[in-house]
Amino acid sequence: MRRQDGNSEDTAVGPARLAAYESKPEGTIVVAGGVEIGGPEVIVMAGPCAVESREQLLTTARAIQDGGARILRGGAFKPRTSPYSFQGLKEEGLELLAWVRRETGLPIVTEVMETRNVELVSDHADILQVGSRHMHDYALLEEVGRARLPVLLKRGWCATLDELLLAAEYVLKQGNEQVVLCERGIRTFEPSTRNTLDLNAIPFLKRRTHLPVVVDPSHGTGHRWMVPTMSKAALAAGADGLLVEVHSDVEAALSDGEQSLTPEGFRAMMDDLRGLCGVLGRRLGAPASRERQPNR
Ligand code: PEP
Ligand code: MN
Repeated sequence: MRRQDGNSEDTAVGPARLAAYESKPEGTIVVAGGVEIGGPEVIVMAGPCAVESREQLLTTARAIQDGGARILRGGAFKPRTSPYSFQGLKEEGLELLAWVRRETGLPIVTEVMETRNVELVSDHADILQVGSRHMHDYALLEEVGRARLPVLLKRGWCATLDELLLAAEYVLKQGNEQVVLCERGIRTFEPSTRNTLDLNAIPFLKRRTHLPVVVDPSHGTGHRWMVPTMSKAALAAGADGLLVEVHSDVEAALSDGEQSLTPEGFRAMMDDLRGLCGVLGRRLGAPASRERQPNR
């Protein structure tokens, strides 16, 4: 969605060049597996924090598709704070993601943590996710900049918005123009929530850059019960989409269960968001059961 604040006041020119709004005022639409991010439709990417098993992934994928999500998320390589926490199924997880894509037709977004894995992840995914902890990994940014897939670039938990834009600049400078920015919360002095979701980031980035902006209310809050409210707030502020954690069995989740929506919670939230989008003059994907795509 383009600038919509109706404010003609001049903005300070930021340090980004290729990512700067002025370099492409018509806006960038990122196309991932046939889904357009940054166009008229609000795009919801949803799925488990981590890929855990074939059954968990397929059940969750069907649930998010029935709710109207367009893209399946799921980590195969997991950056965990503790080395004793579940680290992801790695290559086996990528294969499960690719299998579920064949079953459902949903494009896949999954994280790549290391330069040497960019090709491997590209062989299985539709969008390469660069996580918060890796936003400053310039070698990785350059490598995904040379990849053939779009990039979902998450804001570092202690990064300024200019630093996020300059990280995107590393990707764009290598020739990959398909970058989506993701606000996922920053660390502040406030301990009540896992991170402080910076809603200011949305209008600020929409003013500074032509790249699509999505919001991750799951990592941004850390609490399942807050996700629907902050999703609404993000769309009202102008986000192009959402990245939401959903798990078929939140009590048994191997990571981030406390911030993952249940399938029922996700469906209820999507119904609510559909109403809000009507008011905002945006469109949200219809539940897939009403417009089921054939398998790819
Ligand atoms: C994730 O989305 O899987 C994730 C690890 O998030 P972040 O990089 O924002 O912490
Ligand atoms: Mn997570």
